[in-house]
Parts: sequence; C-alpha cells; structure tokens
Amino acid sequence: MDGGGIPAGGTIVTLRASPLVRRVQDQSKYHARLIEDCERLMPELPEIANLARQMTKQLKGKRITDLDVTQPRCLNMSVKKFRRIVGKSVEETNARGKWLFTNLYPDDNLLLNLGMGGDLRHHRSSATLPKKYQLRVTFDDKTGLTVTFSWFGYIHLASDKELLKHKMTNKLGISPTDKEFTVEKLASLLSGRRGAIKSFLLNQKNVAGIGNVYVQDILFRARLHPLRITQTLTGSEIEALHRSICEALNQSIRLGGLKYERDLYGRRGKYGPEHFLVAYKTHEPCPGCKTAVVKIRTGSTASYICPKCQKL
Ligand SMILES: [Zn+2]
Repeated sequence: MDGGGIPAGGTIVTLRASPLVRRVQDQSKYHARLIEDCERLMPELPEIANLARQMTKQLKGKRITDLDVTQPRCLNMSVKKFRRIVGKSVEETNARGKWLFTNLYPDDNLLLNLGMGGDLRHHRSSATLPKKYQLRVTFDDKTGLTVTFSWFGYIHLASDKELLKHKMTNKLGISPTDKEFTVEKLASLLSGRRGAIKSFLLNQKNVAGIGNVYVQDILFRARLHPLRITQTLTGSEIEALHRSICEALNQSIRLGGLKYERDLYGRRGKYGPEHFLVAYKTHEPCPGCKTAVVKIRTGSTASYICPKCQKL
C-alpha cells in the first residue's frame, strides 16, 4: 500500500470482549441496512466478476438440454426463438460492467443482467430449485442453473454479429479488470472530459462496473473529492486513481464480493463494512487522519468523504 496509512486488506481485529462484539455486530447490521436503503443492492463489478469466474469453472463444456422461461418479458425475443440455445455448449463467461456474457457454441451469447438483488444459482439436482425463477437451464449432466430476479433484470441472447448491435451493452466502457485498463488508458478516457470525477466513474460508458458502493472508497484512497473537476487532475492524481480503482475492486473480488450479495452456490461474499474506509461511515474517524467522515450530497447521489483528506 502507498504510505497513506490505509490498511490494504482492511483492518483485522480479534474481538474478545462480548459487549464490543455485540456493538460491532450491531454496527454491521446498521451498515447493511444503510447500504440497502441507499443502493438497493445493485451488484457491482466484484460480484459480477466473481459469478463469471464461478460460471466458467462450473459450466464450461456442458451442453444445454432444456430450458424454462417464466417471465418472457425479460427476454429480447420470443421464448420460441430463445429455445435455439437448446443443444448448444457453454463456453467462457466474462463480466463487463453489471453484465455477464456467456459464450455458447456455436455462435451465440447469453447476456444476463441481474438488476437489483437478482440471484444466479447452480443446482446439482432439481432438489434445490427455488420455487420462483425467471429462467431455468438444464444441462446434459442433469445439473441446472436458475436466474431469479427480485425486481427486474434482463436475459438476452445475441449471435456474435448481433452482439455488436446490442444496444444495452455495446456502449459499455472498459472493465477495470481488463488487461487494457492501464493508467494511460484511464488518462486518455479522462482527457477532454468535463464534469465531476465521481460522475465520470459512475458513467458505465467510461468505465463499466463501478457503482455508488465502491466509488466512495476509490475516491478516498486516491484522496480526491467526488466533485473534483476531471480536467484539473494531475498525472500523479490519475495514477493514484487508477491504483485505487484496481486495489479497491481486487480486494473485494478476493473476498468474494459484498456480504449482501450471494455467489453461484448461494454463499455470501466476505467484503463488508469492516473493509470499508469511509463509505457509509458518517461520524466515524477517517482511517488516515481521524477526522470525522461526513456525508454530502453530490448531484443525485450521496457521498462519504473525509473533509480533510479529500479537499475540493
Ligand atoms: Zn482523513
């Protein structure tokens, strides 16, 4: 970590005193509720990247033998047309922004967007199938996959050629997990842009996959105020921002994503409030300088900043 006094892997504290444990647990619930209220649990890149990795590992090489769609309006075509995936084989799954792209052989791509609080689950047998789902896919080894939306999401299909014209994803920006996401790339994306850095980062056409949960600590790590005008960023600030994006997202990916989201096997992630630096920590001390964190309004979103470390 750069000498900024921020723990790279979050603070790990062994708690023995039970009242303290209780306080921390209460605090954790409080944070979960806060985030739920504020963000309505939109999975961001670490959660999607984790699902993509698990899907590739679990499903690659399997052949689709059947499917069941219970909510046809999630599809971008009729159920009858959608059935063209039966008989196709599953290849790699990749994350881009909040979308999962699963390559099917021959010439097809399954595009999933889980929306808010959606659930993607692998099943060893039909015994664990949920009562409600929007899509169920069965594979040649009798295992299955279900997609369940708690609000609304998308299940689209596109051939390789159709993928280039797919309106909801073809303008998505670079994924911060891509090899091509370098400091130079970020600098070139920023050049000539107007507006605040936070809006730039949240715009999925610039960089895909950062939402209002991770952006807070990304800006704090880079010591940037959310309303800082992009044109005024110096070379070393852009470098710090690039490093912060990679560190914050990778730390969460390593921990399996946010605690409030579940993976392909129904397990919760381990990235929780104890790993957050200033996000959702109003009145708590800044991990760098101990100044109390404040919550401010930045356009249509709320921001959590250290007023001393992130000066405008
Ligand atoms: Zn501070």
